[in-house]
Order: sequence, then C-alpha cells, then structure tokens
Amino acid sequence: MGSHFTNVLESLESKDFNPLDPEDFRHKAHKVVDFIADYYKTVQTYPVLSQVHPGYLKNRLPDTPPDTPESFDTILSDIQNHIIPGITHWLSPNFFAYFPASVSSAGFLGEMLCTCFNSVGFNWVASPAATELEMVVMDWLAIMLHLPKSFMFSGSGGGVLQSTTSESVLCTLVAARDRVLNEIGIEHIGKLVVYGSDQTHSMFKKVCKLAGIHPVNIRSVSTRVEDDFSLSPDILQKVVEADVEQALVPLYLCVTVGTTSTTAVDPVKHLADVAKRYNMWVHIDAAYGGNACICPEYRHFLDGVEKVDSLSLSPHKWLLSYAECCCLWTKNPDLLVDSLRTNPEYLRNEHGESDSVVSYKDWQVGLSRRFKSIRLWVVLRSYGVENLQNHIRADIRMAITFERLVRSDVKFEVVVPRRFSLVCFRLKQLNGFDTELMNRKLLERVNSTGRVYLTHTVIGGIYMLRFVVGATLTEEWHVIKAWEVIKEVANTMVIEDPAKYGSVKTKGQI
Ligand SMILES: *Cc1c(COP(=O)(O)O)cnc(C)c1O
Repeated sequence: MGSHFTNVLESLESKDFNPLDPEDFRHKAHKVVDFIADYYKTVQTYPVLSQVHPGYLKNRLPDTPPDTPESFDTILSDIQNHIIPGITHWLSPNFFAYFPASVSSAGFLGEMLCTCFNSVGFNWVASPAATELEMVVMDWLAIMLHLPKSFMFSGSGGGVLQSTTSESVLCTLVAARDRVLNEIGIEHIGKLVVYGSDQTHSMFKKVCKLAGIHPVNIRSVSTRVEDDFSLSPDILQKVVEADVEQALVPLYLCVTVGTTSTTAVDPVKHLADVAKRYNMWVHIDAAYGGNACICPEYRHFLDGVEKVDSLSLSPHKWLLSYAECCCLWTKNPDLLVDSLRTNPEYLRNEHGESDSVVSYKDWQVGLSRRFKSIRLWVVLRSYGVENLQNHIRADIRMAITFERLVRSDVKFEVVVPRRFSLVCFRLKQLNGFDTELMNRKLLERVNSTGRVYLTHTVIGGIYMLRFVVGATLTEEWHVIKAWEVIKEVANTMVIEDPAKYGSVKTKGQI
C-alpha cells in the first residue's frame, strides 16, 4: 500500500508528460500552419468531390489506439495520405455545390484565437470579454445590415451567436410558444400552428418537432412558379384563416430570404403584415441571402424587417467566417431568456447571474459556448465593411458570368431568375429525350470528373442543376473552366443514342 502511494507521488512530481508545453506547441503549430498553407495552395489539384467508397478508412487505420506516443510527423503524413482522399474539398475553387462555406485568413486567425483561450463564456463572469465582445460585434453587424435599433443592444433588443440556423429557429420558436402558452394554458399546446412554405429549409420541421409542435400543425404552404417560388401573402392569409376557423392558434411564421433550392425571396413586409394580424412571431431565415444585404443594392430584400420578431443569418456561408457561426437577432431577448433561463447554485456569483449583465447561456440550447465573437471581430476589422461588400459583389458578378454562358448555349436554359450567386439551369427539353434523366446523367458525369462539383434540386417537379459561386478561392477563370467541363460532358451525351434517354416519361417540362 505504502510503496504504491509513494510511486504515485513520484510520478506526479516528475510530470514527464506535459500536454501543453509552449515550446513543443510552437514547434508543431508552425508545421501545421505550413501544412494548411500548402493545402490552400494545392487544393485545386484534388478531385473536388471525394472519390472514395463507404468504409474506405477502416482498412487503412489500426483497429486499436496507440499505447505510446506517435510522432507528429507520422500523424500529419497519415492526414495527407488517408484523410485528404476522403475529403470533399469545400475550399476548392472548383466547388460550386450546396451553399458555400466561405473562409479567409482573418477568419482562420480568429478561429485560432478563439481556440487559444478556450474560454467557456456561458455567463458574464465566466469571461466578461466573451460576453461583451459578442454584444459589440452583434451590434456592428446589425449596423452593417441597417437593422432597426429594436434589434440592437443599443436599442431594446440584441443579438447572439448560435451555431446553426436550426438552433436560432428552435430558440425563438420556444420563446414564441411559451409566450402564447402562458396566455392560453399549456394544455392547448396541440392547437399551436406554425407556417412556412414548401421551400422553407427542411430544418424547420425538425425544429418544430423538437419544440413540441404537433406534426399535423406544421403548415408547408405551396409556392407557385408565377411567384418565383416565394411564399404568397394572399395564400398564407387563406391558410391561416382556415386554421383560425378550426379554433387553432397561429404561432410562428418562418420567412425565408434566399431559399436553399433557388434563392427565392419571400416578401417580408407583406407576410409580416398578415402574420401580425394573428399575433404570430415572425422569423426571417436569411442564412445565405442575408449576407448580401450588407450591400446597399441588396438591402431591399430585408425591407419590412422592422415588423418581424427575429432574424438569423450565417456568416459561415458567405461572410468569410468559419463554421459554426449563425447570427440571431431578436427584438424580444426577455422572451428568449424567460424560456431558456437556468439558474443553478453552482453558477451563482457576483455578476454571474443578474439582470445587469447578459447571460448568453439563457439565449441558446447549450450551457457551454465558444468565444466565437472574436472570430467575427477579427474578420470585420481585418477586411472592413468595404471589402466584405466587394467579396459579395465579386461572387455575384461571377455568377452573372456563368448565367451568360448558360444563356449563350441553345442546348441549355436558366430555369429560375438568379438573385444572388446561385444559377439554376438545365439541359433543355429535346424531342425523344427524358429531360430529367439527361440532366441527372449530366450531373453525375460532371461530378465524376473530379474537376468541379455541383448539386441539384427539384422544384415544381422540375429537376435542375445548381451552380453556386462562393468558395473563397474561386476566380472568374474557374467559373469559365467549370462551364467548359459541363459543356464538354453535355456534348458527349447528346451525340449518344436518344433512345437511351427517351425510355422514361418526360417530367418537369416548362
Ligand atoms: C443552409 C441553410 C439552413 C441550414 O441551417 P443550419 O441549421 O445552419 O444547418 C437553413 N436555412 C437556409 C435558408 C439555409 O440556406
């Protein structure tokens, strides 16, 4: 017993394992920085879409973890040899899929500093700078977007950094729900109805389920081609009216500025007018499109924002910031806090929990939170508003270039109007060919070249390809090259036997 105890003490005293030795860190971190800079330099040489098959990694790695330390060089070379082949390169200048994950030097440096402090700023005292910088940065961004004072700390509202749009919608929906249930009684939760369009992001249904909204009370209002797939206030009014007649209680409307399929923009002002007749909470999901509203020429997409209750947008999609970074502003922080406040004994201390300071843990799902505002602060200061605006404009200009190229080829058509940096296009209908099948094949073949990566959507029964400009490294010549790849593949397809593509009934003609 005694000798065992002495051994333990001895090993503690010697402490020959120091997981945070500053000089060791400096040495290895320099290697990582070199690795990253080399990756950024060469990323365009990799296939954009990873070409591996499911389960590829299991056979390449040992079944058990190492008992003894491995050299950092070995770890880095395994990343190069085994991990990179399984990466779909979102940073590649030839990445045109989904919505972009825009990044930057300043964003990365901010990320390093955020990680450096690893301060878990759940309340003010846990790191006063983390809370206070977040308040400053959220007000700065609100100013960049010309949001009304009612969304700012310098007014009566405020902003918070969430990780995702899903969490922003969840927190505001729960606040809206509790406000109404306090009035009508919790037993009526089954009467609450929420509204979006058939183009609202799929996260909305998930979030509504999390918030206890009865699945039959989640309205997905149909959009129409003549409204460019935006939500029509007249149709919304009719749907809500029908619910009210059934003694249901309208609760929450999710308006989208820049839908995921086609970047349709719902008319904020008119929709808010309808919703407010029924005392609904109105939220704007502007995850991608909202970023463009820092440019005066796109700010009109947010007209009417003064009538809504909350707004979220994600700088990790288009404002040169690393994931996960979603900004949420609300006019009603008190309602968020009423719903989400916790007050355990172990967090009570001077300025820890009091009305005079913001406790961001009461604005979000989790307790822990990273010092994310430092990342945005470094981006905003390093580039300034002007360069961020230039960045958005450059992407949109490149999208316009792509749009022109599509229009210049008679085999292709642009399917819905372009609003931001997304172009939705397809091979036109050809006699004897199945349009959808042709376009599916085109996408499959284009992506399998590894030279570019784009994705598709189906809307109004029409299958179309989506081409989004937004990867930070993309330059105009990448866009032109991408178009050449697409055209080349299409040309080889059209000379093939029409019968091969004509066997299935043609869908989605317009
Ligand atoms: C990307 C996107 C989302 C995704 O939300 P997360 O929860 O952040 O992944 C939601 N809405 C829109 C309009 C989007 O473009």
